[in-house]
Amino acid sequence: MGGPSVRIDLDKIENNARVVCNLCAEHGIQVTGVSKVSCGTPAVARALLRGGVKGIGESRMENIHRLRANGVVEPITLLRIPPLSETEEIVRSVDVSLNSEISVIRSLSSAAERFGLNHRVILMIDLGDLREGFWPDDVLPAVREVLELPNISLEGVGTNLTCYGGVIPTPENMQQLVDWAHRIEDTFDIHIRTISGGNSSSLPLLASGKMPQGINNLRIGEAILLGRETVKRQVWPGTEQDAFLIEAELIELKEKPSVPIGETGEDAFGGRPTFVDKGLVTRGILNIGREDADVDGLRAMDGRIEILGASSDHLIVEMGAAKDEYSLGQSVSFLPNYSALLAAMTSAYVQKNIHGKAVSEHKPKKVLLFSASNHDLEVELLSRSLASIGFELELPAKNLRGEEDFFSAIRSSLSAGSFPLLRGRRFLSSTGFSAASIELGQQGLLWISPSPSIIVGEKKKELHTDDLGPLGRILAPDLLELGWIEASEKKSDDQTAPSAENIVLLGLQEARPVEVEIIRSLGLNVYTMEDIDMLGISAVVRKALQRAVIGSQGLFVHYDPRISDGGQEGLSNRETHLMMEMIARSGFMRLLDVSGAAIHGRGRGSLQKFIASALGKRILGV
Ligand SMILES: *Cc1c(COP(=O)(O)O)cnc(C)c1O
Repeated sequence: MGGPSVRIDLDKIENNARVVCNLCAEHGIQVTGVSKVSCGTPAVARALLRGGVKGIGESRMENIHRLRANGVVEPITLLRIPPLSETEEIVRSVDVSLNSEISVIRSLSSAAERFGLNHRVILMIDLGDLREGFWPDDVLPAVREVLELPNISLEGVGTNLTCYGGVIPTPENMQQLVDWAHRIEDTFDIHIRTISGGNSSSLPLLASGKMPQGINNLRIGEAILLGRETVKRQVWPGTEQDAFLIEAELIELKEKPSVPIGETGEDAFGGRPTFVDKGLVTRGILNIGREDADVDGLRAMDGRIEILGASSDHLIVEMGAAKDEYSLGQSVSFLPNYSALLAAMTSAYVQKNIHGKAVSEHKPKKVLLFSASNHDLEVELLSRSLASIGFELELPAKNLRGEEDFFSAIRSSLSAGSFPLLRGRRFLSSTGFSAASIELGQQGLLWISPSPSIIVGEKKKELHTDDLGPLGRILAPDLLELGWIEASEKKSDDQTAPSAENIVLLGLQEARPVEVEIIRSLGLNVYTMEDIDMLGISAVVRKALQRAVIGSQGLFVHYDPRISDGGQEGLSNRETHLMMEMIARSGFMRLLDVSGAAIHGRGRGSLQKFIASALGKRILGV
């Protein structure tokens, strides 16, 4: 297809990440996967995460927004020192930043305070490489101030070597970093969570077994993405080097003399080329040039092909012994080094072709509707709108009556790989949640509704299981344990206790006093409509998703259509769509529970579209 391309193999990236993460894990080190050379390609970040990295490191806000907009909800660390002019944007989109200027941290603090957010900082210490970092004399005064700043927490200390000055990580300079962490801990009586000992250049030291105790984080890009450490650029054991390939097409293939004919001057870029006379050789010209990639950083995968030179748009190669195996129009693959890859990823002229399991991964194509009524018209309408995005709507094979029937039917639909859509019945939310927790493992819960629905009916002095609303039923095991409700005769043995930190209420407009007390005592996460007004729907949904999915195997989404009232008290239709699309793109949703207004009732058009938004984007996968 025309121009040159980068071929990205997600399976190789995932495998490389696993190799590096496993080695690091043996030494008590967590890896932040650095995706910046891929310009924040979401599929690459996801492959890193599947391979075991504990968060993503990125250097540019554009890349970070790209990741966030595509559903990457894991913690993101901003690697480049934040500019003063962007601190607001940073606290809204980034969890952790690396810092070396106290005035920037002050500005991050006031921005975070304005938005009611908390921002974590890693203080960089310059151990001699002369790129970023506090000079050692300034570290303790900086820590003192950071600890006093509101809405900022000190995540840890870090260093960056082998970047500008080429200083290599050694047991000595790494120990200096650990010593700094201990000095800070002793001086201020605090615990330093993260001691971040650098980038891919720290891996040889780690593998040699000489990395000092205490370093517990590395920020790794090149070793995973290109399979090489960066001190001597040697192949890293167990990794593959061709996760990224640059491919270009032969546009000329001819026998030509190896030395130009005529008087020679400067070439197109002001250099003076030299030539070795080898007589007639088979030369190829490829449709890739300096405008597309840093061609000096390319090496042909086929070792017989040698790069002779390049202009803006052409790469000239000598085909050597490979000449009979290539023909015009065929493509040649090159291994890029870091800078060649960066240039190719950044160039608008270079296509990005993503390959690997994650791309062709089977997504459920069947939606199973579990509903109280199975109203014909509703089924018909939903069925039509889901068909338009490639899903088939099915009903359970047999007539389901009680809770138990629904419970086992939802479980079997999940294990068969279909997507359950629950349509409001009082017990259906908790039944579905339990079924998913048992079948798929711990579930996050996103409760999108104007009200918490923990309690129904009048407030009584003593609460019983009968007083519980849909969310109350999900929370029942916790409510029982904390003594909020009395145990009833009926034992809820099928119910698994949800984990409170993965429960997020979104869009809350009202709550009874007793519900507020319960929310506080269980420590549930709440984002009210006011938060959405302040921060915007996308920032809130992103945070909500992040909270809900940390450590969980999937996400149960409850959506009460009353929250989408066209933007009067609740969400506008556009906000609802954006929210649903973000949920879909996160790829975490395993069940959707839609209760409230009937689909065939008022506003049905929008409800069907919202459901389609929540499901539709899954088709795009990566
Ligand atoms: C780019 C970068 C890294 C990752 O470096 P690699 O050599 O790709 O592992 C780590 N830390 C910082 C601060 C960076 O800018």
